[in-house]
Amino acid sequence: MRAIRVTRADEGVNQVALVEIEPAPLDEGEVSILTEYSSLNYKDALALAGRPGIVRAPQLTAGIDVVGVVHESRDARWSPGDRVVVTGRGLGETRDGGLATRVLVPGDLPVRIPDPFTARQAAAIGTAGFTAALCVEELAAAAGGDLDGRDVAVSGAGGGVGSIGVRLLHAAGARVTAITGRAELADALLELGADAVASRAEFATAPRMLEPAAWDAVLDTVGGQMLASLIARTRPGGAIAACGNAGGMDLPTSVAPFILRGVRLIGVNSVHPEPGIRDAAWARLAADLPGPVLDSLTEIISLDDAIGAADRVLAGAVHGRIVVDVRA
Ligand code: NDP
Repeated sequence: MRAIRVTRADEGVNQVALVEIEPAPLDEGEVSILTEYSSLNYKDALALAGRPGIVRAPQLTAGIDVVGVVHESRDARWSPGDRVVVTGRGLGETRDGGLATRVLVPGDLPVRIPDPFTARQAAAIGTAGFTAALCVEELAAAAGGDLDGRDVAVSGAGGGVGSIGVRLLHAAGARVTAITGRAELADALLELGADAVASRAEFATAPRMLEPAAWDAVLDTVGGQMLASLIARTRPGGAIAACGNAGGMDLPTSVAPFILRGVRLIGVNSVHPEPGIRDAAWARLAADLPGPVLDSLTEIISLDDAIGAADRVLAGAVHGRIVVDVRA
């Protein structure tokens, strides 16, 4: 089988290469998936660029998402021919991941590809789209179940999580402000469902403890100064779903928005979701993300080109999602 293997270095850059390896034998309780597609999330780009922090095993196959067909199963829940998707759950971080022609996973990890999505569309959703849906679930719950008519900001709106987040929030009836560092994406973001587009530069300086409040809810994929600015601009009782760090790991904020406006900061981690919210997120994606819209946000590359594409992701130069056709 072909796989992109990452070998962890004690110091500096990890070694990353596309190689031929022998498939491991299938253990009791495991499922073997013949991969059709994987995708390049921000985390995948970090791993493929050899950066430390993502891969937490001495050596493994990269790829936090996999979509494909079960061809062998030692778990009673799965049979050959089942079409499945796995996002997160340690793939590409603590166990072999999806950037390979074959992937073995424990039987409780896969989810059936939900109608109406094709395998390619399920990969285009991947961890990024799933995370966007988790964020929207959290924001809707914090708003009492309904985002209709609410003002919601999305940062990193041109990226994978951000783009799908814009569309899902639009479908939920929110008035969406898409924040992007790329002015050239404004028309595409408006077409996707944003009501307004704001420049990343407006949020680049340190905010006062409280700024004029503009949003009922925020989906933040950027962290750092951006998240601090958005917290200071959230309306009383509003909520922020924080899922990303594309702009930094720090959070230079104060307690003022929390104690004076009752703002709520909700962390979102897509790797090990509870089954209830996982199913709700997939149901929201199936209902609110039309296939053609998803296709318009998707670029397809081959397994041979995956390592080379990582730099584009890390430079924030990708619009939407990169799907890896592992069979190409
Ligand atoms: P992408 O690379 O697709 O998108 C990130 C976007 O962030 C870019 O397109 C860009 O948007 C913006 N951006 C990039 N660099 C900077 C910067 N220096 N300052 C401000 N904005 C920047 O990544 P994903 O959408 O896949 O992931 C987004 C974030 O969410 C990542 O940090 C990722 O690790 C995290 N994530 C977390 C998950 C979780 O479980 N918590 C799961 C999935 C992702 P624009 O050009 O429009 O401004």
